[in-house]
Amino acid sequence: MSEISFHILTLFPEMISGGLRCGVIGRAALKGILSFDAVNIRDYTSDKHGKVDDYPYGGGAGMLIQAQPVYDAYRAVAGGRKIRTIYVTPQGTPFTQQKARELAAEKELVFLCGHYEGIDERVLEEIVTDNISIGDYVLTGGELPAMVMIDAIARLVPGVLGNHSSAEEESFHNDLLEYPQYSRPEEWQGKKVPEVLLSGDHRKVAAWRLQQAETRTALRRPDLYEKYSQKQCLIRLMAQDKRNKIHMTESLARGYAEILYSDIREKEVSALLYDRDRQTVLASAADEASGRELADYLPEDTKLAVVSEPFMKELLEKRHYRVLGVYSQVLYTGRESLSVKHKDIRQLSMEHYVWVCRRCCDGYGGIRREYIRKRIMEGDMYGAFVQEQPAGVIGFHEEGSLGMLFVEESFRGQGLGASLESYAVNRMLEKGRVPYGYVEKGNLISEKLQEKLGFYKAEKTFWRLEKMLANRC
Ligand code: SAM
Repeated sequence: MSEISFHILTLFPEMISGGLRCGVIGRAALKGILSFDAVNIRDYTSDKHGKVDDYPYGGGAGMLIQAQPVYDAYRAVAGGRKIRTIYVTPQGTPFTQQKARELAAEKELVFLCGHYEGIDERVLEEIVTDNISIGDYVLTGGELPAMVMIDAIARLVPGVLGNHSSAEEESFHNDLLEYPQYSRPEEWQGKKVPEVLLSGDHRKVAAWRLQQAETRTALRRPDLYEKYSQKQCLIRLMAQDKRNKIHMTESLARGYAEILYSDIREKEVSALLYDRDRQTVLASAADEASGRELADYLPEDTKLAVVSEPFMKELLEKRHYRVLGVYSQVLYTGRESLSVKHKDIRQLSMEHYVWVCRRCCDGYGGIRREYIRKRIMEGDMYGAFVQEQPAGVIGFHEEGSLGMLFVEESFRGQGLGASLESYAVNRMLEKGRVPYGYVEKGNLISEKLQEKLGFYKAEKTFWRLEKMLANRC
């Protein structure tokens, strides 16, 4: 089954199939990673002449697409199911990279393309869940906007782009535009490729790219740069209490969380961050009063919360959250890579999916199979192999922490866990990230391992809380 299916309701299906069959998206469809079907609204009209439009009541220029053929085309696709349905319209909220990320998490999407003066309001009220625009200008039809959105969404689906990190480094990912890029030859028309890019020094290249991205954003998009600067300011302040706030600084730095609330008093930071894609809040409050204030900014659709003060935990419990787990946070502050004793450690592929699920899903912090599949597809799971058989596993969680460490019982006590973790630390350092993770309170074996590898433990205790379903509505 494909990762995501796009259904496009249109008067010009040939435009959609022609446009989406090419390039990266077309190849992903051929591989079965995604699927799309263009549904001709005209095929569903009850008018015997095949008409789908009529004059608007009250007069005015142009014609409107009628409700009946649109509704029947939608019903043919959705049946009784409720599928997220996007009407592409200049009257919608602007399409952004963030919206693309949000929509990429869906399994199925319907796009409704208008024509003429638009579509009868009554059917829009009936089937549309989101109104989205591609910009403040008016086009003749919705096919191009639908294709623009599908393209942006599809390339974020695991497996569509060969190298997943390419989506993470791009423009808008973290309120920054991308840095300039160069390819062969080293010199063209007297212009040389910047020296640093030829140095082979990953750290220097990363620093240069960041500085270029900042300058470019400040010049071309001062509005974005303003947002970025505010974030950097908070990151710098929170970095002074790295051990207790690394999960917050890393989520901000990597563009996974936005600031919903921040208050800085004499360098004491209270902040509420929201990871919209995962509907997770990360909160830290300097005192109870700030905690109460901050809690008022909790988004309605929050599913999970990570807090590090007992009063925040109690406050959330009063707001119908329940504790899922109690953790220590561990952090590797070294810059040197660690030595890895076990030599056969590799990225896992879907061929190991069942093996990983058996080890990591059942009774292990409630990790879902779907989540493991995504982590493997995104290249974030690594296995230690003994005679070609997987003997242990480790991975990166979505928000960047290390976790899911497991070693088969028969291979324990041989240093496989240490090798896996050292290997993962090295991968993180290469990517310029700070290795950190959570250890369940009372898991002495894991705590000992972290200590041995040079991880620091946060002074604070961390609670992971889940919003209880009954109170969500
Ligand atoms: N009368 C409509 C209005 O003023 O909002 C404009 C209709 S437009 C000529 C026809 C169709 O093109 C729309 O129904 C919509 O599906 C699509 N469309 C035009 N501009 C768009 C935009 N900027 N973003 C998304 N869809 C657009």
